[in-house]
Amino acid sequence: MRAEIVSVGTELLLGSITDTNASYIAGRLAPLGIDCLYISQVGDNLTRLTDTLARAWERSDLTITTGGLGPTQDDLTREAVAGVLGETLSLNSELEAHVRDFFRRRGMPMPERNLKQAMLIPSASPIANPVGTAPGWWVERSTPSGRKIIVCMPGVPFEMQRMWQCELEPRLRRLSTHVIVSRTLKVLGMGESAVEELVADLMDGANPTLAPYAKADGIHLRITAKARDEHEAHSMIAVVEREVRRRLGDAIYGADEDTPGVVARDLLEATDKSIALLEVGDGAIGSVSSMLVSGQLVTIVAAPNMQGAVRLLYADGGANSPDLGEAAVALRRLSRADMVLAVKVGFEDADQQGAVLSSAEIILVGTSGQVMVHTHHTWRTARSEVRRLAGLAALNLLRKQLMAAVHT
Ligand code: ATP
Ligand code: MG
Repeated sequence: MRAEIVSVGTELLLGSITDTNASYIAGRLAPLGIDCLYISQVGDNLTRLTDTLARAWERSDLTITTGGLGPTQDDLTREAVAGVLGETLSLNSELEAHVRDFFRRRGMPMPERNLKQAMLIPSASPIANPVGTAPGWWVERSTPSGRKIIVCMPGVPFEMQRMWQCELEPRLRRLSTHVIVSRTLKVLGMGESAVEELVADLMDGANPTLAPYAKADGIHLRITAKARDEHEAHSMIAVVEREVRRRLGDAIYGADEDTPGVVARDLLEATDKSIALLEVGDGAIGSVSSMLVSGQLVTIVAAPNMQGAVRLLYADGGANSPDLGEAAVALRRLSRADMVLAVKVGFEDADQQGAVLSSAEIILVGTSGQVMVHTHHTWRTARSEVRRLAGLAALNLLRKQLMAAVHT
């Protein structure tokens, strides 16, 4: 089934509101196995709305509209649908009773113009809206090119979502012959193009599909399968997932809802390792601790520079200022944590474009009491970004070590 979404309202075109209705619906069509091919936004204008719906009726099996079902003059969705189908609106007595009742229960007189919300055309049946005045419309006709459906819902997100969940999803599920299931594998420590290079041939597949997305918490690889049922979709996904995992190995830190912080926390718990954090430099403070909320976290030592860290870590005042590795080893002794993760970030002056060159040093001290891993990174980006990137790099280092420990 080929679907499209039409969001109605001049507010959308003015940029006053964001089209969250369309995103909501689009996100729920895919699991139903319904392909969404177009999303349009159109203002409260009868000619343009009618044109948009006529084109949708022509090219899609299912058109879903939101907005324009209110009682006012600029609510024109019903009129436009009637125009596209060449049908005439007439007052439906059951709907009239519903609208009158809605006002009676609120103890308010009903403005005559609200009767507009009780209008139907012959091809439309009403969709219940117990939380608002306007019922939705289910419009269905068989045409030479097959069955065509238009669904009209209110614009108010709360009313629309209730109608979608309670009334429409069950009907559409019965009509759809397929399901679409997705699984997202998440990668850290590699750039998008490097990831793509390793899986390029798998991205040519039509079903399942594989697509990379660069996101704040790494590169996401989304595997999507269309099948007759969920079981079949999951086994199709598993075949691709195995191959992607074989190629990317431990660069994959998790799947679906996993975040770097949660994965690291779970691994600390699974291996029963306690950890202390050392964050040095104003770009590092909070970079790891904000993401790593864990019962295994013993202490956090944060200082704006090495001198500050030395004062915290050495009882004798630290006459000589040690390097990050020595400070991390000292923190491990002091805290008695199994591991210490240390991050130090330094900034250079901004260049003419406003980007800041920054360098980060990340160190992991393991149960041996010695530095296990020591990495250096540089970035040229905004300061706030560097804090996040340094935190992700540090968590990734920890995560890889713990994963290796789990697997040996
Ligand atoms: P009403 O009876 O309230 O007039 P309606 O079906 O006519 O309902 P609209 O008037 O188009 O709907 O929109 C009502 C409100 O719902 C808007 O002011 C806006 O806040 C919200 N809304 C409408 N369309 C969208 C959309 N596409 N995404 C998010 N919010 C929306
Ligand atoms: Mg309205």
